[in-house]
Amino acid sequence: NYQAEIVAVGTELLLGQIANTNAQWLSEKLASYGINIYNHTVVGDNLGRVEQAFELAQSRSDIVIVTGGLGPTADDLTREGFQQMTGLALVEDQKSMEKIETFFQNRGQTMTPNNRKQARVFEGSTVLTNNAGMAPGMYVHYQSCHWFFLPGVPREMKHISQEELFPFLETLTGKQRIIQSVALKFSGIGESALEHALSDLIEKQTNPTIAPLAQDQAVVIRLTASGETKQEAVEMLEQTKTLILARIGEFCFGEDDESIEEVVVQQLKHLGYSISAAESITGGMFSQKIVSVSGASNVFAGSYITYQTRIKKEVLEIPSETIDSHGVVSHACSDIMASNVSRKMQTNLGISFTGIAGPNEQEGKPVGTVYISLVDDDEVVVSKKFNFTGNRNHIRDRACLKGFEIIYQ
Ligand code: ATP
Ligand code: MG
Repeated sequence: NYQAEIVAVGTELLLGQIANTNAQWLSEKLASYGINIYNHTVVGDNLGRVEQAFELAQSRSDIVIVTGGLGPTADDLTREGFQQMTGLALVEDQKSMEKIETFFQNRGQTMTPNNRKQARVFEGSTVLTNNAGMAPGMYVHYQSCHWFFLPGVPREMKHISQEELFPFLETLTGKQRIIQSVALKFSGIGESALEHALSDLIEKQTNPTIAPLAQDQAVVIRLTASGETKQEAVEMLEQTKTLILARIGEFCFGEDDESIEEVVVQQLKHLGYSISAAESITGGMFSQKIVSVSGASNVFAGSYITYQTRIKKEVLEIPSETIDSHGVVSHACSDIMASNVSRKMQTNLGISFTGIAGPNEQEGKPVGTVYISLVDDDEVVVSKKFNFTGNRNHIRDRACLKGFEIIYQ
């Protein structure tokens, strides 16, 4: 019989600013594996006291679960405390580092040096992947005690627990619980609006856990359920899925590995529609994405890549007057690009992309300005202006994604 202890690190817990819900949630879960929790410890962000708490836990417990203090800031001292006690070296985990770098790149932000700290793990530890955030968790077997380090943010903690901690405890205790999970993919709704719409569910619900993740291509919610049988787990997933879709189902385009371009191709095929594209800022990127879907030839006729203004006039027949009075980055130009391509290629739909990828502004319009138009049966049905942030390729990528979202809607 295992003796387990939960150590929560964070001064805000001691000050009463937040309740130790992590310990409560973990205790409830661990009980279902027949693991007895003998102690809850709360310790502030102080190196000496963190180390002391760890030494006490090492001396009396077989399993220790630590939450919090893994972040990038100077008051996050969990690694340092355990290092002082054990002398274990910290090394940079390549996979975690790449994940952190991609996260910043995708948001068009520069990574501050302290963020590297989050990728540092104990030598010889098992890295517990964090699919809901940046800092990974860790498992260390130290002098016959099983140590688990989890982030403090409740939704990240729950996520890693479901995916990594519980399966491990199952092996340890011989009690199997079946884990099932599904990713719901959304477009046309931002990450924060989505979290807001589901905040009560995300907060309260423990099985399945609900974790919003920002991926490159879409806003994603991962549901992870555990049950004694597969059927039980699947049923729990289905129930929660229904609850979520009742609120924001109109924005959900697919599940798991489905991409928006796949869904768009299927949808157009189903409707018997054809599409063509006039690409300026995206320079063929939209075409590349759509033809990467097998069966795209059923719906995608082709595209004009009209990059220079001269080519927009000569090949796509955009009138000089339109360009002279509105510029090439404008609703007017974008609308005519979409109409002309659909007419020339004789497709039901025509989509256009024109904008400023940077690094310099153009026509007095800032970097990130992008116009996308959609023409259906010679009529402009969508004509939208966007202000994207990030570097050149990030802006082009966002434009394509928006294009697919517009077609999907
Ligand atoms: P981050 O990378 O966000 O800094 P971290 O692992 O360093 O994560 P903390 O900084 O300790 O974690 O905590 C982050 C947030 O998570 C806290 O502000 C608090 O809101 C929440 N939190 C931390 N510990 C707990 C806990 N035991 N119970 C409930 N919420 C907690
Ligand atoms: Mg922190």
